[in-house]
Amino acid sequence: MELFATMQGSSHEQVMFCNNNDAGLRAIIAIHDTTLGPALGGLRMWPYGSEEEALNDVLRLSRGMTYKAAVAGLNLGGGKAVIIGDPREDKSEALFRAFGKFIDTLNGRYITAEDVGIDVNDMEFIFQETNNVVGVHQVHGGSGDPSPFTAYGTVQGIRAALEFKFGDQEVGKYSFAVQGAGHVGHHLVRLLREEGAKVFVTDINEEAVAEAVEMGAEAVGLDEIYDVDADVFSPCALGAIINESTMPRFKFKIVAGAANNQLATDECGDELERRGILYAPDYAVNAGGLMNVSIEFEGYNEARAYRMTRAIYYNVHRIFEIARRDGISTWKASDRMAEERIAILGRIKLPYMGKPHRFPGRERNSG
Ligand code: NAD
Repeated sequence: MELFATMQGSSHEQVMFCNNNDAGLRAIIAIHDTTLGPALGGLRMWPYGSEEEALNDVLRLSRGMTYKAAVAGLNLGGGKAVIIGDPREDKSEALFRAFGKFIDTLNGRYITAEDVGIDVNDMEFIFQETNNVVGVHQVHGGSGDPSPFTAYGTVQGIRAALEFKFGDQEVGKYSFAVQGAGHVGHHLVRLLREEGAKVFVTDINEEAVAEAVEMGAEAVGLDEIYDVDADVFSPCALGAIINESTMPRFKFKIVAGAANNQLATDECGDELERRGILYAPDYAVNAGGLMNVSIEFEGYNEARAYRMTRAIYYNVHRIFEIARRDGISTWKASDRMAEERIAILGRIKLPYMGKPHRFPGRERNSG
């Protein structure tokens, strides 16, 4: 791979390769854009088939974080890190502490968090070596499990979509098909049911389905979820579930859920538009977890986290307005909203603020 050509193509600022033979550490940290603030993004541990695969993943994910933070209105840039290794076999204290030391050398340019393959114990080891970690345990003043905030934020995105599509935001009047009743899906089903909405749910985990049914949801089969006659489809499990084979089955009027990378391709986002289905872009809808950890910078406060998460309603609404203004699909409008914010804030330069000048070596003749 031509690394610099790749970085130029995606406008990455910095890529750092971290090696420690004793700890068996092979990691890559990618900092995409720090115009808005320090690059924040999770650490993923995965048994990548090749170094190129790991590099592509970290470049793609770090760029995604820039867009997510920008649309969320946060003063954060985009970054991400990957450790090459099998999370079931290759974890050790030394591995994570060695990685923590590398993060510390970046002096706050990159701030890490939990992602796939990483748990709270791994974060504890990283936290021993650097302060530049969020999502640390609540006993250290951290924010704990982000999923209730992600679910709450998803409801705000759903409300914006209902308002735009139907002219009201009364969640309880509408029906929902929720795919995945895991960490986020469970809380989403709870919130929707609290509003009195009709909810259909599916999950490969029967226990998760049973809990949702206990809250009043109706269970449907794994593949059946795409055919459900509901107003809103809310993906909360897998990516790429909006594709050529699922879309023709949709009777939904809105797609708004927490899962990452819901569109198999950008063209699928355009196709939803052609079919008259309003798509609330995933990374704008699911930003509640990121907002929640961002509050750790100023001292964590749960009430503030919920207040901040309510902004997702306005962010998603703004995306729909940009789509209408520019005659483009909502996925594109979301990217545009991020790029516009980064461009305008990047151009704001403070006037020179003044400081006492020293002029060493100069003397005034007092005579
Ligand atoms: P999770 O692993 O707790 O839940 C996912 C659920 O989906 C599991 O219960 C799993 O059994 C189920 N599932 C897997 N394959 C399925 C299938 N084929 N059909 C139906 N169900 C299936 O994960 P989570 O934390 O709830 O996250 C869900 C999604 O939201 C992911 O895409 C994640 O990246 C995204 N997300 C989560 C957060 C957060 O705060 N946790 C924040 C932003 C985005």
